Amino acid sequence: MKLWQKAAAACAGVLALVVAVCSAGMLLYARHTILNSSRAQIRAKQRDLAVSFSEMTNYYRLDTDTGPVRASLVNYCFSRFADESSVLMQGSETVSSALTIDPSKWLDLSEAQDMPADGQRTFEGPIDGRDIFMAASLVHIRGEEYAVYTVADVTDVHRDLTVMGGIFLAVSLAGIAAGAGAVTLLMRRGARPLAALSVAAKRIAGGEYEVRADVGTKDEIGALAADFNTMAAAVQTRVDELTETAQRQRLFIGGVNHEFKTPLTAILLHTRLLQQVNLTEAERAQSLSHIERQCTWLERLTQKLLKTISLRQDVEKTPVPARELADRVLSSTRQILSDRNVTLLTDWDESELLVDADLMQSLLVNLVDNASKAYDPGDADRTVRLTVRENVLEVRDMGRGIPPEALERIFEPFYMVDKSRSKKHGGSGLGLALAKQIADAHGARLDVTSTPGEGTAFRVELPAG
Ligand code: ADP
Repeated sequence: MKLWQKAAAACAGVLALVVAVCSAGMLLYARHTILNSSRAQIRAKQRDLAVSFSEMTNYYRLDTDTGPVRASLVNYCFSRFADESSVLMQGSETVSSALTIDPSKWLDLSEAQDMPADGQRTFEGPIDGRDIFMAASLVHIRGEEYAVYTVADVTDVHRDLTVMGGIFLAVSLAGIAAGAGAVTLLMRRGARPLAALSVAAKRIAGGEYEVRADVGTKDEIGALAADFNTMAAAVQTRVDELTETAQRQRLFIGGVNHEFKTPLTAILLHTRLLQQVNLTEAERAQSLSHIERQCTWLERLTQKLLKTISLRQDVEKTPVPARELADRVLSSTRQILSDRNVTLLTDWDESELLVDADLMQSLLVNLVDNASKAYDPGDADRTVRLTVRENVLEVRDMGRGIPPEALERIFEPFYMVDKSRSKKHGGSGLGLALAKQIADAHGARLDVTSTPGEGTAFRVELPAG
């Protein structure tokens, strides 16, 4: 059984119970009130009849009359106030009655016990298939005892009450049915967002991380769906990150494999060559120098790789004057820049930068090295500008630039815009990947803007404070 079905059944049950108890209570109260008022009317009528009859007989002073005269006067007095419901009896003898029944059979006033204070007694029950209510009292006329009855047929009152009960029951049942239907609809509608959440959860579990629960209500379930969507977005971001990391690692490993293969193959080839006895001294020297070059290259590559891999997020930052950083870059690139006939112009302010000086130097040296390689042999203006100011470091050249389609890939490990040119300069495609890692470790942004044929600018923006 689903939750909404359980909730609907419980609500409908409670509703039915409440309606049943209320209806029964109202019905009983109505029945009691109507019957009591009907009884009170009949009792009052009988009381009036008895009093009026008694007063009139007193008026005629019946004690002076005898026999038939007295009987006809009594009859006359009674008939003045009687109607079809009135009966006058003397003992077991009916003096005046329009009824076919003898009321004394059911209400015998001669039994004096438990006579109420007002002298009126009543009977209620079925007689000859009809519901009868009768009230009676004794009237004493000059030593003789008469019983005055008012006998009313209350069958219609009882029938009306039964019909009213039926209507009450039908209305209550219809109310319960309508209420249960409304509750069921409400519960079902209320549970719909939960079903949407469940479907979304299943699809996300199946790998569709972009799926969101479309609930659209502003209640607690809507809030839950919003939280669920926030969680799903966080999961998607994390999965995307992990996928990207895994892909980067795959590329990285592929790149490592590829970069190591070339020098290792060359070393192996020349080692085998050296094992041959009939090599000339010149050939031997050439092979050895080749092996040395490849080994030097492998050593540099290994160092860069180690740095790239082992760089941790939490670097040790200390305040470093902008000038010191510029000087460090200047001195460590002096030789290489002079070999390439490139001038480095530095510009700094009096600020201090909160950085790991060695790592930031490494980043800037990489950028300056790249910038110096951006010039072709015939280029006249071969200048690289390094700016170190509060929180901003920039390396700008006016070299060949980077094609737009390569711009978004240059930070990938082992990516090279022009492989043969990069290799000629001893490049490995790791310099910018390492620079990016260092910037990330400082919480800094590393951006590049470049126009082919006009030059390139790399900008590192350190977090404020
Ligand atoms: P490498 O070790 O080969 O220099 P990097 O990761 O430092 O590798 O650079 C990636 C690629 O970006 C290189 O192939 C290089 O051609 C290109 N590049 C980097 N800086 C510049 C620049 N200032 N001007 C032109 N091309 C550049």
